[in-house]
Amino acid sequence: MSDDPREDLADCLRGVAETLRHHRDLGVREITLSHVPFPDPGDALREQERALQGCALCKLCRSRTNIAFGSGNPRARVMVIGEGPGEEEDKQAVPFVGRAGQLLTKMLAAPGVGFDRDRDCYIANVVKCRPERNRNPEPDEVAACNPFLLAQIETVQPVVILALGNFAAQTLLGTKEGITKLRGRTYAYRSIVLVPTFHPAFLLRNPGQEYKRMAWDDLKLARREHDRLTGSA
Ligand code: URA
Repeated sequence: MSDDPREDLADCLRGVAETLRHHRDLGVREITLSHVPFPDPGDALREQERALQGCALCKLCRSRTNIAFGSGNPRARVMVIGEGPGEEEDKQAVPFVGRAGQLLTKMLAAPGVGFDRDRDCYIANVVKCRPERNRNPEPDEVAACNPFLLAQIETVQPVVILALGNFAAQTLLGTKEGITKLRGRTYAYRSIVLVPTFHPAFLLRNPGQEYKRMAWDDLKLARREHDRLTGSA
């Protein structure tokens, strides 16, 4: 294992490539994925998290207490992506455990949605370290953390990504369009269905029914896409 998760991922892919070539040389005609040594996603995420400890790739390392890497089921079909840790997340080293996190947990479990955050979702942020006083992450910080987010997505291989708020949606979709315009429909992110919606912290700041209902519609859309793509009832 190296200090850089990208190196570990590259090693693992080299191993997969070697096995596939070996099978080709043997004359094996069908690829059975269970014969290919993909790492267990839980192990891979633990390794990525371990490799990130002590990260000093951007200035957020100066203000953080802990890195809030990710939480939930490494084999989840739904990945939830937020902006960056707040005060509570920074203390506990777990994403979405403060007030916004409590609202997110309820939104995921709402009628017609029915996702359990620990069983059905894997939750992460665009940046893994808290920006001071919860300021917005800056472009160099988002860029420095992007490979770690991409590695998480590659590892979990969700069928649906729920992108919470401007930062997650704009970073993943490579757009400057705001969340109010982006939400309400699906997007293709690689081969994953991406559903943008309001960030729960925005809903806490804007407590009217209107935004909550729109967010609920988006989450029900995410549920329908999940069910369609996984063949669930
Ligand atoms: N807001 C986020 O975007 N992420 C968290 O983990 C907590 C609050």
